[in-house]
Amino acid sequence: MAKGLKMYRARNASGEIVAISQAMANQSLSCEGCGAPISYVSPYSRGGGKIKVAHHLRLAKGNDHNDDCKYTLEAQLRYLSAIGNDIDVSRRPLSLLANGKYRLRLNIIHDRFKEFAHSPRGGDLESNRARTAQVWSGDMLAPYCRTAAGLARIAELLEDDFVVRRRIEVTYRASPIDWSHLYFGEGNAGRLVRYLRSARYTKSWHPVALLVRPKIRKEGHLQCYAEEAKHNAIYVVPRICAQPHLLSQLDLDRDYLVFGQWFASSESRRSSDGKVAFDNIQVEVHQKAQFCPLLENWV
Ligand SMILES: [Zn+2]
Repeated sequence: MAKGLKMYRARNASGEIVAISQAMANQSLSCEGCGAPISYVSPYSRGGGKIKVAHHLRLAKGNDHNDDCKYTLEAQLRYLSAIGNDIDVSRRPLSLLANGKYRLRLNIIHDRFKEFAHSPRGGDLESNRARTAQVWSGDMLAPYCRTAAGLARIAELLEDDFVVRRRIEVTYRASPIDWSHLYFGEGNAGRLVRYLRSARYTKSWHPVALLVRPKIRKEGHLQCYAEEAKHNAIYVVPRICAQPHLLSQLDLDRDYLVFGQWFASSESRRSSDGKVAFDNIQVEVHQKAQFCPLLENWV
């Protein structure tokens, strides 16, 4: 049974809502949504020790949230499925199916590409780039991007993201896509690069959501913290490329889910002493809906 989302604030013994920075490790805390007992988890590291993960709060062992508490997966799925509810029901980003699963309609993105099929394609890199930018920057895609990034955020905040995998159904260009190929969170750097280079991915070119933390601002892009692929001295370095007005909306040293067509360079780059290698991956961000902060209320 899923235990709910990581939390960053809770009620103290006097019933006041306190931020995690004020929550003492041994204080009696309860869920602000339903009153279930909460415990404190100390900070730890990911990315081969390179990325510090902030402390958080979680359900105390042996407890559950109430069914309607906002920190449950069900409540979050209901919330996300309300995005785009002005869109015709057959085209909504996320909808509940008769089998209890939710369908994420990513194919809408592919359909938009088909609508631009009259544009010249193949061979001309510039016109392909322009077409991609035209499709991805359109307002019509915003609810789909927001929903996909929001799902990735829930998966990252859940202690067991396999429960998301069982609840989401996705097809892209007539092929089913497993949730594990749509979302890459903490500790998945090696698997991610292998997948981005696979024929399966380069043929379907479906969008992917990643957890990244911007580190340095550079000309035209943000370089994110590297994550080591399973301690084999290969570091995966994500880059977010975008227009300045979008890059300025991303803070350094803050975690984001970034949804888009991620691309991996075909070969690793070795350091001059040959001891370590780097795999560069990048995404073009064309609108704000493609990213969301992991923690909405950063404390
Ligand atoms: Zn609760």
